Amino acid sequence: MKHALIKRAAEDILRVSHVTALTGAGMSAESGIPTFRDKGGFWERYDPEEYAHINTFYTAPEKPWQMFKAFEMQVKARPNAGHLALAEMERLGWLQEIIAQNVDDLHQEAGNSAVIEFHGNFRRAVCLSCGAYYEIKNISLDILPPRCRCSGVLKPDAVFFGEPIPQKAFMQAVEATRSCKVMLVVGTSAIVYPAADMPAIARQAGARVIEINPEPTSLTGWVSDYIILGKAGEILPALVEELKKMAL
Ligand code: NAD
Ligand code: ZN
Repeated sequence: MKHALIKRAAEDILRVSHVTALTGAGMSAESGIPTFRDKGGFWERYDPEEYAHINTFYTAPEKPWQMFKAFEMQVKARPNAGHLALAEMERLGWLQEIIAQNVDDLHQEAGNSAVIEFHGNFRRAVCLSCGAYYEIKNISLDILPPRCRCSGVLKPDAVFFGEPIPQKAFMQAVEATRSCKVMLVVGTSAIVYPAADMPAIARQAGARVIEINPEPTSLTGWVSDYIILGKAGEILPALVEELKKMAL
C-alpha cells in the first residue's frame, strides 16, 4: 500500500515541471527537534503562546531568548535523511522550491538553495529599534536579552505569534503555490495560518497535493489528494529512489 503510493507520487512528480514542497516541524522531528504536538518536554516548559509571542519581547524579553537558547541546543541537530532527499530532488530538477515553516536552517544546511523562509530563520537576529541584522553566532547570549549597538532589544529573525509573515516571503510562497503542479506537504499539521492555506490554494489552482506524515491532518481527505503515512526520513528517500528508477 505504502509502496504503491510512493510509486504514484513519483509518477505524479515526473509528469509535471513544477513541484513545490511545504514543510513543517515534523520535517525536523527526526533531527531531534520537537514539534509543537510532541507531548512532554520542550513546548511544555516553553509554552509557545507565551515564549514565542511577540508581546513577550515588550514585557519580558529575556523569556523568548531563554527559549531560544534551549532550542539552540536542539539545533545542534543535523539535517536528516528527509532533508537530504529534498536536497537531492532539487539537484536533480524534481523540486523547484521549498516553502519552509521551520526556522532551523536545516534545509539550507542539507543543500537546498531555493528555500522560502516563511517564518524567518533562527540563525539571524534583528534589532527591534533600528532594524539592524546580526548573525546570532556572533552575539553573546550571556546576558539576556542581547542588545544592539544602538541599545535596542534584539529578537531572533523568526516570525513570532502575533507578527505578520515577511512580505517578500509571503509573495514568493503564494507565487510558488499558484504555479506549482504538485505540492508535497511534509510534516505539518496545517493548523498554523496562513501557511496552512497554501495547500488549498495550490489545489484550487489545479495542483496535485500529496501529504507525507505519520498521521492524518486537517488536510487529509479534503484538501490533499492522498497521504503517504510515514516519517519524512523514511518516505522521502524512498520517493527519491523511485524517481531515479523511473527516470533513469
Ligand atoms: P506541528 O507541530 O503543528 O505539526 C507537526 C506535524 O508533523 C504533525 O502533523 C505530525 O504528525 C508530523 N510529524 C511528526 N513526526 C514526523 C516525521 N518524522 N515525519 C513527518 N511528519 C512528522 O507543526 P507545524 O504544522 O509545522 O506548525 C508549527 C509551527 O511551529 C510551524 O511554523 C513550525 O515551523 C514551527 N516549529 C518549528 C520547529 C523547527 O524549526 N524545527 C519546531 C517546532 C515548531
Ligand atoms: Zn539597533
